[in-house]
Amino acid sequence: IRQSLVAGNWKMNGSAALVADFNEKLKTVQCDANIVVCSPSTLFHHFSADAFSLGAQNVSHLDNGAHTGELSLEMIKDAGCSYAIVGHSERREDQQESNDLVASKAKKCVEAGVTPIICVGESLEIREAGNVEQFVGEQLDALTSTLSVEELSKSVIAYEPIWAIGTGKTATPEQAQEVHEFIRGYFNKVDADLALKLPILYGGSVKPDNAQTLFSQKDVDGGLIGGASLKAEDFISICQAAN
Ligand code: 13P
Repeated sequence: IRQSLVAGNWKMNGSAALVADFNEKLKTVQCDANIVVCSPSTLFHHFSADAFSLGAQNVSHLDNGAHTGELSLEMIKDAGCSYAIVGHSERREDQQESNDLVASKAKKCVEAGVTPIICVGESLEIREAGNVEQFVGEQLDALTSTLSVEELSKSVIAYEPIWAIGTGKTATPEQAQEVHEFIRGYFNKVDADLALKLPILYGGSVKPDNAQTLFSQKDVDGGLIGGASLKAEDFISICQAAN
């Protein structure tokens, strides 16, 4: 019932040469999953492949106007994006993005016809204190109080435990499944049909050699890939693991 999705998050990395490599190597890729590449916005116009969709790593919750340094939904759409990551833990940390701001960005995306990939996930401290469900639950509360069921049904959730991002310390498939099941259960209380259809991606040190076991978990519908999305061969093999 749920289409699997693999999204690469290049973060503050990449170049026109890397895009050219992706355009070439992903052109003929055979894969059942939907593929998204979220590059820095300076590179959007270099992409030409239609084997995958383009995503932004962030977007403003405001409309075009006097907001220096920001990019609006109108702009990222004009540049070819059909997805946008919102609320990545690095932005929650570096730019102090709150749960409410993340929710308003997600709503704005859906209104503009762009699919938000909404990131949630806890720090090691929160995990060790046994507060994962409370913490992630609060991140989800902000979403359900801002977006309607219909808007949520046009969204994607990405569970990214902060302790697993860029650390090589992947969550075990069981740890990932446990939180994914909690998230789906949370949405089931909001609307059963929404919970069935909502794609929930796992992110945090996904690599070609661990992707398949993670993606085979019942409530894991694909992945949000950082470091391993910067090499076309690795990214392709992760995409194929989601078949
Ligand atoms: P890594 O795959 O490098 O751990 O990053 C995960 C991530 O933050 C994707 O958004």
